[in-house]
Amino acid sequence: MARYVWALATKQDNLWIKWVHAVYIKEENWWDYRHPVGCSWYWKQVCEVKEYLKTKISLQDLTGVQKYSLKGIYAKLCVEGDHVDWDKFVWNRISIPKHRAITWLIMKNRLNTADRLLKYGLIHDDTCQLCSTGRETHEHLFFQCDYSRKCIDLLRSWLGMVSHQYDFQRTVRFWKNSRISCFKKKVLAAVLKAGVYFIWWARNEAVWNLVGWRPAQIVQRVKSLIILRINTVIPKKTSTANRAWFELLKSR
Ligand SMILES: [Zn+2]
Repeated sequence: MARYVWALATKQDNLWIKWVHAVYIKEENWWDYRHPVGCSWYWKQVCEVKEYLKTKISLQDLTGVQKYSLKGIYAKLCVEGDHVDWDKFVWNRISIPKHRAITWLIMKNRLNTADRLLKYGLIHDDTCQLCSTGRETHEHLFFQCDYSRKCIDLLRSWLGMVSHQYDFQRTVRFWKNSRISCFKKKVLAAVLKAGVYFIWWARNEAVWNLVGWRPAQIVQRVKSLIILRINTVIPKKTSTANRAWFELLKSR
């Protein structure tokens, strides 16, 4: 999503930019633009990423990035002294770019969860729509919520992992310190990021479209997407042992 923010800021010449200008931004200045209430959740996320970038870098810095690279933008953010210990977790080629972006927002507590909307007076109830019991905060959705725990448990059993850790930050620390191959680490990170992306997606489906998805359906989506992704980007130098492990995942 940071790519879209950058593309809009640097006025890239492509159809999507023209479309967004015609439908949403119109005559407004992109850097000061606020999204309308009824727009799609995806467009809201793009605007949220833009708001986050605004707190970290100037428009000049962003437009100074000639050729888009998430790493390049991230390097600019790090110059500001923003301490992060999850860089390798978020940024690797195996994971899907939009999953990285959502993970980044979660890590920074930047999603518009119900507790935040309630605080702004935009809604009257911050009950989690996935479990109907807890308050919808970042901590609850990732992963105190029974619904998201079920998703995480199913994904763990797919990966053959034994862990009962449900705190997102701690899970990332556990991932960092675990002694497994680099390839496996990247795959686990990609799966977890896809998991949180789809939990947020399921939440939006429940809130905006009143559609309920079962955890097993969410997990099935994650699995197919991850397998497709790895098949496409698997590095040539991947060892036979790692390839065999991936084949095993595909068969489960
Ligand atoms: Zn919940």
